[in-house]
Amino acid sequence: MKLDVDVLRYLSKDDFRVLTAVEMGMRNHEIVPSELIDRIASLKHGGTYKVLKNLLKHKLLHHDSSKYDGFRLTYLGYDFLAIKTMVNRGIFTGVGRQIGVGKESDIFEVVKEDGTVLAMKLHRLGRVSFRAVKSKRDYLKHRSSYNWLYLSRLAALKEFAFMKALEEHGFPVPNAVDCNRHCVVMSLVRGYPLVQVKQLQNPDVVFETILSLVVRMAEHGLIHCDFNEFNIMIDDDEKITMIDFPQMVSVSHRNAKMYFDRDVECIFKFFRKRYNLSFQENEDESDDSEVDSDEECRPQFSEINKVSGFLDKELAASGFTGKDQEDIERFIVEDVEEDSDSDAEGTEDEEYNADSTNESNIKDFDSVCSLKKEEDNTPDCGDRQIEHQAVEKDRHFERDDNPEDESSQAGCDHDSEADEQIEDPELMKRLTKQRQRAIQAARGRKKSSTSRTKYSDKGGRSSYKSKVQKQMSSW
Ligand code: ADP
Ligand code: MG
Repeated sequence: MKLDVDVLRYLSKDDFRVLTAVEMGMRNHEIVPSELIDRIASLKHGGTYKVLKNLLKHKLLHHDSSKYDGFRLTYLGYDFLAIKTMVNRGIFTGVGRQIGVGKESDIFEVVKEDGTVLAMKLHRLGRVSFRAVKSKRDYLKHRSSYNWLYLSRLAALKEFAFMKALEEHGFPVPNAVDCNRHCVVMSLVRGYPLVQVKQLQNPDVVFETILSLVVRMAEHGLIHCDFNEFNIMIDDDEKITMIDFPQMVSVSHRNAKMYFDRDVECIFKFFRKRYNLSFQENEDESDDSEVDSDEECRPQFSEINKVSGFLDKELAASGFTGKDQEDIERFIVEDVEEDSDSDAEGTEDEEYNADSTNESNIKDFDSVCSLKKEEDNTPDCGDRQIEHQAVEKDRHFERDDNPEDESSQAGCDHDSEADEQIEDPELMKRLTKQRQRAIQAARGRKKSSTSRTKYSDKGGRSSYKSKVQKQMSSW
């Protein structure tokens, strides 16, 4: 997968406006009807069709005309919205190379104005366990906000909140810098995942340190749930940093003991195999055997003095609620439970790679898009100039020299996201009605191709326009 940030430089304000309009529409539409996008974006000189086409070309949107003519964001589109926000907040100015690919994330280096390098994690929930997510759709059916944007955003918010709380309690974790949408920015860990380290100077000490972390976390009321050699970083001085927190659970979780024992077992198993640690007397390891020689030194969940809810305050302060935890547990934690070593099978990453699909997508869009006719008469958007012509390339980092936003506060500010904006129940009702009408119109199929998605809405435009303008004014 490639995150081509060059494209970001060439996107105009109108491009971002339309992209944001799609995001807002996705609050209650899996596929956002074109006419709704047009209305939300309400570009001064029209021209939504052209902008949509441009966004489609860059794979920031996906066109879908199966039920009605509409669009959804791709991962890339969502990435750009988050990156743009981070840049506007002054969190970083450029995106560098990719440094990690997780099961459900991509990690990049990003650079601040002063040259400091940070790590940016983009959550991609559903990439691996998409089938599992699908099978769990029913649970969130009643939620208008269900979709992968929501889940990935939740994963990022949770990771950010837990990382911050753990950091405040002195755990060796990256410094949590900021979070927006599905994106978490944190300090860069100088080191390697333990899985890559063939030899250690002091394997016993490292083993003890790691094991004590599992115990200390449990004492603070938490279990990592994916505590293994992939999520433990180690540097040249054999200093440990834990990463990857979206699947953490409380010690009061119904399966807490199982998760705790599994985390502990992962550590024992790895050190036994990789570093031949002495607690293992028997070369012939029967993994499932309960009567291990290391039984004696194994921390027991029941013997830990656990303080449940200890970190709750910190978590809530970061905006992560019990309800969020409930939602995400159904997707992440249970996946970990069922499928702890899934590979990249069933990847949903095609949007980044399939050029041919994209081309046919654009053609398809040309023939169907209901906005085209109307806009053929509108003046070309002369002010849609490329804003960042002055491309300045540094050897490693491509800078976005457009820090046009005023807000620079850190912290997980998910309130500013577009999909948080439509909170007016009246408006929600109207949007839902509109959608139903659109589906009905599409089912009727008696319209000409230009009005195949008859998506009429009488009134209401101005009421949500003001809300939309508020959001848009930040671009
Ligand atoms: P996932 O949840 O998808 O497993 P991780 O958070 O474990 O993602 O990150 C995947 C990989 O990215 C890690 O194994 C590590 O190599 C790299 N990585 C993640 N966070 C950082 C960081 N803060 N600094 C340096 N590398 C990181
Ligand atoms: Mg990981």
